[in-house]
Amino acid sequence: MDRDFFTTMKTKTLKIAILSLHSSPIGAIGSQNTGGMSVYVRELARELGRCGHRIDIFTRQNAHTNGQVVNLDENVRLIHLSNGHAGPVPKLALYHSVKDYFRALESFQAQDGLCYDLIHSHYWLSGLLGQIAQNRWHVPHIVMFHTLGALKNMVAAGEPEPELRIVSEKRLAKGCHCIVASTAKEREKLMRFYDAAAERIKVVPCGVNLNLFRPLDRLAARRRLGFEADESIVLYVGRFDPLKGLDRLIEALAYLRNHTRLRLVIVGGDGEQSPAYQHLWQLVLKLGLKDRVMFAGRIEHADLPPYYNAANVLVIPSRYESFGMVGLESLACGTPVVTTPVGAIERILREGQTGYVVSDYTPAALAKGIESFLSDAAAATPAPEIVRASVFEFDWSHVASAIMDQYATVLKQQYQEA
Ligand code: UDP
Repeated sequence: MDRDFFTTMKTKTLKIAILSLHSSPIGAIGSQNTGGMSVYVRELARELGRCGHRIDIFTRQNAHTNGQVVNLDENVRLIHLSNGHAGPVPKLALYHSVKDYFRALESFQAQDGLCYDLIHSHYWLSGLLGQIAQNRWHVPHIVMFHTLGALKNMVAAGEPEPELRIVSEKRLAKGCHCIVASTAKEREKLMRFYDAAAERIKVVPCGVNLNLFRPLDRLAARRRLGFEADESIVLYVGRFDPLKGLDRLIEALAYLRNHTRLRLVIVGGDGEQSPAYQHLWQLVLKLGLKDRVMFAGRIEHADLPPYYNAANVLVIPSRYESFGMVGLESLACGTPVVTTPVGAIERILREGQTGYVVSDYTPAALAKGIESFLSDAAAATPAPEIVRASVFEFDWSHVASAIMDQYATVLKQQYQEA
């Protein structure tokens, strides 16, 4: 019976509503509120669509929206929901519009004549939307939080997360059918801080696009980007958020002054007018590092491979990270990673070979980690293809297959309870 159910599920075409309210999969990735989650949603949807499932991703309409329905990939549509305001709004303001967004979602669904088999929501705000849909449609609801408010507040970098978020996450953790956590550590925190039931949390790591991120000739990549063949390049890729610890990475450079041909290349952010950029630039000036730091701006995801390939090392200096997909992307390109002990990447690295996990969060510790991939020790770094092989298991097709197993599990439970 069990095996029959799973076999049927594997061949059935599912209609899946993916909710990603605040962050669009085709948004400006690398900007303040659009990062790994958008990449995750896009890649997962693409894989599920390729397997024949019908995927509708729902996100909020914004000023750049071009049409209500956008065909993204095979069997994958992106649907923009309107609450009557397309302009920029603080993320938290969406909380007060969740019911309006649900009305827009139901009206699209009625017009389209589609009934979804399950809902997969991303981040707590989409979770709240999913919860309304779950109660109205009586279908399973799978939640992925991506970050947890309670943990962000423990790190205490940047604006504290409101109690509203913590209470909502707790409610969602209790009321949904399944939570997907990207690491065992997140699973443990969900149990500890939100009383989530162990049996309803499944750990499925995030993925990497191995077709896009692959080793290239380093010198050719440097030429393409205008970097010198003989300089040492330390790379950062990501949003500019106090949690990301970019300030400490800049401070770490001050410990590496003896490396005269060293440059820190920073990818991501919201441009030179943004307060986050201004804050970092002031720090660069104060430390006298103007000639050693390059802000490359936000780079399209598809254009990132030469950056990873040009670098000697990618650094993740974060205070908190739920997973850290940039680490997988770097390793897939054959470039080692130095990281603080955060997210999944610290467990994926082979110490001293594919990377280095620093002992603490200080700039001095980061500098020590970086140095081990610049000097003679770098000679011991395995060939790019070997570094890349360490992340083969994270191909998005494997992630989608593990997520499909969870869909089958919750659908089976629903079938048995009916
Ligand atoms: N990214 C990008 N362009 C940029 C900066 C970042 O495409 O200019 C992508 C990066 O390749 C990665 C994602 O944003 O896929 C960041 O994911 P990660 O898990 O590292 O961090 P998060 O944003 O989830 O905190």
